[in-house]
Amino acid sequence: MKKILFLVFVTCSIAISGFGQTAELFPKGEISATDNHTGTIWLNELSKPDSILNYSIAVATYAPGAKLDWHIHPAGQVLIITEGTGYYQEKGKPKQIVHKGDVIKCSPGVEHWHGASLETDFAYFAVTPAQKGKTIWLKRVTGEEYKAIK
Ligand code: MN
Repeated sequence: MKKILFLVFVTCSIAISGFGQTAELFPKGEISATDNHTGTIWLNELSKPDSILNYSIAVATYAPGAKLDWHIHPAGQVLIITEGTGYYQEKGKPKQIVHKGDVIKCSPGVEHWHGASLETDFAYFAVTPAQKGKTIWLKRVTGEEYKAIK
């Protein structure tokens, strides 16, 4: 009986460690050194835009509490959350709590920000069309904006 329990334990441990965090499948990449966020964010651009497939696909991984500044994607963005809990907010709308498994569509030209909760890491795939130009960075997210969950 003990042997069976041990085998179950080992099997479960292997299974759990095999499911994964994005970081196990794709390297987290470099720590972002750009001045458009607060906290630690790792970026790994998996697929760069080219003349035929004109969008970027990147993995972004956030330490707890890390968040981007307010910004605009001229051609929109899709975020596929792969890890943790975070926030997404569009200008003039309440902040949304988003979780692993959620898919967020951000329309072209909409001012918004996204970031990790204070309690967990946060990661997503970002699909960002490039044909209308680069992301436009705006103001820092204030403590008040980050805190208010309503
Ligand atoms: Mn965005």
